[in-house]
Amino acid sequence: MSLIISDKCIGCGKCLKTCPFGALEMKDAAGVNKLNRIAYANDSCTLCGACVESCPVNAIELQRETSVKTDSAQYKDVWVWIEHEEGKPRNVSWELLGQGRVLANETKQELCAFVFGDKCDSMVKEAFAYGADKVYVVENRAFVNYNTDLYTKALTHLVKEYKPSIILLGATNNGRDFGPRVAGRVGTGLTADCTNLGIDEQTGNVAWTRPAFGGNIMAVILCPNHRPQMGTVRPNTFKKPTRDEAKTGIEIKVDVPVSPEDIRTKILEIAKVTTSTVNLEEANVICSGGRGLGKPENFKLLEELAQVLGGAVGGSRAVVDAGWIPAQEQVGQTGKTVAPTIYFAFGISGAIQHLAGMQTSDIIIAVNKDPNAPIFNVADYGIVGDALKVLPIMIEEFKKVLNK
Ligand SMILES: Cc1cc2nc3c(=O)[nH]c(=O)nc-3n(C[C@H](O)[C@H](O)[C@H](O)COP(=O)(O)OP(=O)(O)OC[C@H]3O[C@@H](n4cnc5c(N)ncnc54)[C@H](O)[C@@H]3O)c2cc1C
Repeated sequence: MSLIISDKCIGCGKCLKTCPFGALEMKDAAGVNKLNRIAYANDSCTLCGACVESCPVNAIELQRETSVKTDSAQYKDVWVWIEHEEGKPRNVSWELLGQGRVLANETKQELCAFVFGDKCDSMVKEAFAYGADKVYVVENRAFVNYNTDLYTKALTHLVKEYKPSIILLGATNNGRDFGPRVAGRVGTGLTADCTNLGIDEQTGNVAWTRPAFGGNIMAVILCPNHRPQMGTVRPNTFKKPTRDEAKTGIEIKVDVPVSPEDIRTKILEIAKVTTSTVNLEEANVICSGGRGLGKPENFKLLEELAQVLGGAVGGSRAVVDAGWIPAQEQVGQTGKTVAPTIYFAFGISGAIQHLAGMQTSDIIIAVNKDPNAPIFNVADYGIVGDALKVLPIMIEEFKKVLNK
């Protein structure tokens, strides 16, 4: 997309007042109009389009270049975003390096990571250990926390400079904000919230799979005409690859100058909204409940078990729809994909949509009073019984074993 200011401009300057970024200026243009000046957009232009409406003579246009096909031969390598919170990387980054390696090998490209932060040395080392051949690093105190404007500016800069062919980001809150914004800036497409990735045999493009129409179909999406091919992928979709401490690679430091005008939002406070002490997607132990728990008050037992085991609470869509637990705790096709070491399912039938979000867990322990419940088909350990009777016993026994 680009901003076009035609010679219809009368030099009135109204657009300068509307631009939130101070990105419009006047330059001398003798003979073009009565005021002998014309507006132009400087590097701070974000293509927000605020100026278009303000122009009294329709001299400003946002031109979409979607019909222009990118020359894909100029783009190479698979890039993975190393997402972190104040230097603590999120597991999804390593999971995507694992799947990125599969895509890189299939397309005979290099696997690269990129990280923006303050002190990135340990993250760079980890990225190599999880398989990256190269790591692009933007290091600056301003990047210590995720910031939409700064991160967008930095990745847009990297894309224009280094032309990656594929970019993978976690479908986390920040990844869902960051990815589409960069895709818009560089004029490409993005497939959000993917649950599988592969290479389309016929075209060599990435085949991005994601649930569509409320989860009723799994759509496979290609981005044949534009580069980079971008997508966000749900955490826990892929297993973390084996870490190789000895592996090294090439670190490329990139300077992205930052000015105060680049930042429109400031983080005043980070308030963590979690109902359990552990983030569901990163938890080692998840205690999930379904409609079989009978009423929302009974989730207190699950919370107690999760607390004893240092785990998180989750649930089926049925209990989210009933308003028993918040939507961010839903596990399944239209909820979170999780892969903890231990997944407890209390009073959950095991519908296919629920299994889609938890069946790669290492150990599944199911408690259900129906011996034919489908959850037992994926469970490693099954207890046929009343969850409300089994839960207090488990809590007591684990407390004893763990001295709590
Ligand atoms: C497009 C689409 C997307 C969906 N996405 C999701 C999703 O992301 N996640 C999800 O979970 N579902 C999803 N669903 C819904 C899914 O199909 C099921 O309806 C849902 O998972 C059922 O939840 P449940 O197992 O808690 O309830 P139920 O199916 O009602 O099962 C309750 C279970 O509890 C057992 N039970 C009853 N009392 C007790 C007791 N005292 N002790 C022990 N066991 C007991 C019963 O035997 C039964 O097996 C989706 C559906 C559609 C159509």
